[in-house]
Amino acid sequence: MRIARFTQGSDPRYALVEGEGEAAELVVISGDPIYMPVQPTGERVPLDDDGVRLLAPVIPRSKVVAVARNYVAHAHEMQAEVPDRPLLFFKPNTSVVGPDDPVVLPEWSDRVEHEGELAVVIGKVTKDVSPEAALAHVFGYTCANDVTARDVQRAESQWARAKGFDTSCPIGPWIVVDLDTEDLEVEIRVNGERRQHGSTSQMVFDIPYLVSYVSEAFTLLPGDVILTGTPAGVGPLVHRDIVEVEIENIGVLRNPVIRR
Ligand code: ZN
Repeated sequence: MRIARFTQGSDPRYALVEGEGEAAELVVISGDPIYMPVQPTGERVPLDDDGVRLLAPVIPRSKVVAVARNYVAHAHEMQAEVPDRPLLFFKPNTSVVGPDDPVVLPEWSDRVEHEGELAVVIGKVTKDVSPEAALAHVFGYTCANDVTARDVQRAESQWARAKGFDTSCPIGPWIVVDLDTEDLEVEIRVNGERRQHGSTSQMVFDIPYLVSYVSEAFTLLPGDVILTGTPAGVGPLVHRDIVEVEIENIGVLRNPVIRR
């Protein structure tokens, strides 16, 4: 089941996404499916209708928790060690944007890079959950781009500015519920050209472990998001690029890049 958040100009609404390509339709549901059972209203809207715009499928209720260096090949390309426990940082919920929203390169950075990642959307209040019980606390999965001001990340020992600036966390295009995430292909393209490629099977710490580990430090709320790290191949984004994060069995998150 795929769940999108969308607007036709007024308040955001939620819908199931049925069908593929030009035949895809939004089956409108009442309320927010993280908090309410899925109940179709009977209204259907073609996804490619003029005036339909997909939004970030969730606005994280309190936080995005991200995991650094969770793929060995990426840690090595950063000349960094693979940590012996997950290395965590935050992105504020104000960094989140949706599909097709521009990533705005900050004036104070000369080197902004893409990091395509699988995102985990939490479905329940979660504290001190075991790895065995963790997946029952997950609502679903989506694509994310952990956009990073790499020069600032290198210059500053706290990553709040380098990884938390406005528009640095595109997510979407929708949330997939009931997904087996053990071996999903992850590909990041810039202007159609492959830059990053890997599989979620290459994660150092798997999703049950990450949800458990994060919940030992922070209470996770429904709608919070965990970014699970990026495969090798990170590289720069410049004005007018189009960056795409594609994850098998989820879809493509596409964003233009602009410098104002
Ligand atoms: Zn990352």
